[in-house]
Amino acid sequence: MSYQLIEKLKSLKPYDPIYGEYKIRLDANESFLHLDAETIQKITDGIAKMDFNRYPDHNAAIACNAFAQFYGVDPQYVTVGNGLDESISLLISCFLNKGDTLMILAPDFAMYEIYARLYEVEPYVYQKGEDLTIDVEDVIAKAKAKNVQMLMFSNPCNPTSIGLDKQDVIRLIEALPDTLVVVDEAYMDFWDEDMSMLKSAHAYPNLMVLRTCSKAVGSASIRMGFVVSDSIKIRALKAAKSPYNVNGMTQIAAQVILSEHQKLRQNITQIKASREDLYAKMLALQARKSDILFMPKPDTNFVFPKVKNAKAVFEALRQKSIAVRYMGEHLRITCGTKEENAAVVAALDEILQ
Ligand SMILES: *Cc1c(COP(=O)(O)O)cnc(C)c1O
Repeated sequence: MSYQLIEKLKSLKPYDPIYGEYKIRLDANESFLHLDAETIQKITDGIAKMDFNRYPDHNAAIACNAFAQFYGVDPQYVTVGNGLDESISLLISCFLNKGDTLMILAPDFAMYEIYARLYEVEPYVYQKGEDLTIDVEDVIAKAKAKNVQMLMFSNPCNPTSIGLDKQDVIRLIEALPDTLVVVDEAYMDFWDEDMSMLKSAHAYPNLMVLRTCSKAVGSASIRMGFVVSDSIKIRALKAAKSPYNVNGMTQIAAQVILSEHQKLRQNITQIKASREDLYAKMLALQARKSDILFMPKPDTNFVFPKVKNAKAVFEALRQKSIAVRYMGEHLRITCGTKEENAAVVAALDEILQ
């Protein structure tokens, strides 16, 4: 007998994003804006002064403070992950017991369910309606009936691109006092900060709010995520995470990037304008193409059209060196530069009926 992987690992597939050279990449919801030279210089200056022989700050205080300043929260309610993905993994593995139930509002960010299965947490998948929205009272009733220990959802949602109004989010939190509600606000910057639970994350004993540098902040490569909650849960998460989870270079980069408030706001404005541009172009296309069956109004930096023969359309775009995300009956297309938006819509114009 030789060593055998345990069953749950045997069936697990490594994450497989589109890889390789594409002329246009609109598949991963990244920012299409590059860091400016001045910001890059500040980061490299900071890294040049770093003590490479020493462990970094285990709490990444400089990054937490910069984040807290930009978003107007108290830094004592903030902790960090090596990318938000790491924090999501930790929340599911450490804030739930084996056999507990995690409620997911599908379709939603795929990692929630993947981590649940990995940690032997029971995923309870609630299917959204045809229009990809939820009935909040129905979610509450089902969550109560199933006695779910955690409810995790992205708001606005990846992949549907739809935001859930703040009053509905508050209703969920208040109606389910025994359930830990985790609101993943990876795309909130593109919608409306007034819809965010960030500033009141510490005020509910059953709420945690998530943010990342990978989307609106335009720094997917540095791997930096933030969790905001009350002191009790932040302390628990700090204790549960590995001590030096965020490396020194990332801490410096995050501090510099998040301190450039004016540039950040300008970039977010520019990405939102690109989203509007892509959505307008896609609406015009939809008016001429019966193959586009449905497309929600996006609150994110991507559109999510339901397309006839989506897999074939995805492949045809790939042939034209354009990468988008294929998701069942839908395509998820990140907004890019004006030229990239025009190119993907022109390609779809050729491909679709
Ligand atoms: C991109 C994304 C994340 C992951 O963010 P990272 O910080 O890059 O790990 C988490 N949640 C949602 C909904 C996302 O779309």
